[in-house]
Amino acid sequence: MDKVQMALKQVKSDIKLKENLTFLLSVPSREEFKPVFEEADKICRKYYGNKVYIRGIIEFSNYCIKNCKYCGIRRENKKLKRYRLTPQEIIDAVLYMKKGGIMTTVLQSGEDPGYDKTLLQIIPKIKNEGVAVTISIGERQEKVYRQFKKAGADRFLMRIETTDPVLFSALHPDDNLNFRKKCLKNIKKMGFETGTGIMVGLPGQSMESIADDLLYFRRLKPAMIGIGPFLAHEDTPLKDFKNTDIFPTLKVVSLLRILLPKINIPATTAMGTIDKHGRQEALKVGANVIMPNFTPSDYRKMYKLYDDKICITENYGLCIGCTEAIAKAANKEVKKGVLGVSKAW
Ligand code: SAH
Ligand code: SF4
Repeated sequence: MDKVQMALKQVKSDIKLKENLTFLLSVPSREEFKPVFEEADKICRKYYGNKVYIRGIIEFSNYCIKNCKYCGIRRENKKLKRYRLTPQEIIDAVLYMKKGGIMTTVLQSGEDPGYDKTLLQIIPKIKNEGVAVTISIGERQEKVYRQFKKAGADRFLMRIETTDPVLFSALHPDDNLNFRKKCLKNIKKMGFETGTGIMVGLPGQSMESIADDLLYFRRLKPAMIGIGPFLAHEDTPLKDFKNTDIFPTLKVVSLLRILLPKINIPATTAMGTIDKHGRQEALKVGANVIMPNFTPSDYRKMYKLYDDKICITENYGLCIGCTEAIAKAANKEVKKGVLGVSKAW
């Protein structure tokens, strides 16, 4: 048995996890990594068949009080025109989505507590349409999260970004890793179906630290984990750092599928940006969700987290067709309706 196959076998049996994960994450070629990709695809098809689940994302505000070093909508980017969608614009986007058979939405923004009151009023209206609501709004105190739960939000999405304490502090001048972990724990405890994730290829990120991220996910047991490659943005302090290619991100996706077999893993927009086939590649190695963009066209270019972000000129009708084509390219098909609210673990 070669070294990759031996490490894969040991990972599946929980033996020397960190060491084996670090080894697998460091495998240099796709050819050598193939057994892991194949195993991840097998597991994904066992639980999800050939189905790809859809969540329509609406980027409702690009105001942000934080200054994360990698992010194009950080507060110090003065070049950016800021916007907030009106409640009606959000509802219209949801209704459009519903017409296309997409019954679950992700409402995402910069960290914009100034919009909380309005959002709390919009959520029950969306729920009245029978559409499941995920919010991705960043860090708040526990009592605020409770208000969102009470308003009817079903799911919460907040990436930990990295669990490496040194890297986390270097990238997040306003944040504390322990507080972010605590937020995620609270969110889960409150009964939100919880999503988290990391970026891959961050400047200074080691394979060992990604292995630690994977072990953190094993402990947290979230329902969804979103992985995206880091992509430089020209108006941020990390503008000169090189983007990696899609391979390291695909490795993380497939290892996640093996470690947490029933979890939801999206093929993310950042994957489609770093590589035009990135999302379909991810669907072939363990991913089972796509999140097409339903932000009204005029605002999309203002929610540019990184350079060359895809899907910012299209209108939403196109995104449904495009999503179907990506699924087909991976030999899968889109499943409409609410993504299983059942326990993913
Ligand atoms: N403000 C919220 C959600 C919006 S940001 C929050 O921070 O949780 C959504 C995600 O975009 C972040 O979690 C981050 O992982 C990703 N992101 C931001 N800048 C990026 C970049 N330059 N490259 C790749 N992904 C990026
Ligand atoms: Fe704001 Fe989120 Fe970007 Fe950080 S990652 S600057 S919190 S939008």
